[in-house]
Amino acid sequence: MAREIIAFLKESKGKGFCSECLASKFNLGFREAGAALVEAGEHIALTQSRGPCTICGRRALVTGVELADPLTAEERVREFIHGHPGQFLCNTCLAHRLQLAFDTVQKAVWQLRPEIRSDAAECSECGKRRLVVGSPVRQVIRRMGWWNRGIKGAPSAVPPAASS
Ligand SMILES: [Zn+2]
Ligand SMILES: [Zn+2]
Repeated sequence: MAREIIAFLKESKGKGFCSECLASKFNLGFREAGAALVEAGEHIALTQSRGPCTICGRRALVTGVELADPLTAEERVREFIHGHPGQFLCNTCLAHRLQLAFDTVQKAVWQLRPEIRSDAAECSECGKRRLVVGSPVRQVIRRMGWWNRGIKGAPSAVPPAASS
């Protein structure tokens, strides 16, 4: 089922569809449609944003495939994280920034584990204490010292990126 949804979304690049319309289009229950989208998100980078649904026109959380998106979700997450050293974001904020589905981000982050840092800390974006991911800045880590000792006693604010 996910394969049909992928084919459909790829044909409709740049358009967004609400979950209800996708569910009825593929004769799926709401929950089945959600599961199929999660599965589809493992194969292609799905975008999720608030906007008018192409089918019903309602403003809702719509899912689609970006018009020109040569990068996979994993590459986009990697690019973002390494492009913002010292910034640590939770998956929710990461998904929001990259306009990717939460599950897609979560999976990409999981695959990028060997090269990124993840820990429980305050998110640079929403400030909530969550599991955040980022690219550590070496000099900053050495100076701060806390990073290696784990998160206890970590400063509440993540130091700004050394670049720029
Ligand atoms: Zn709709
Ligand atoms: Zn956040």
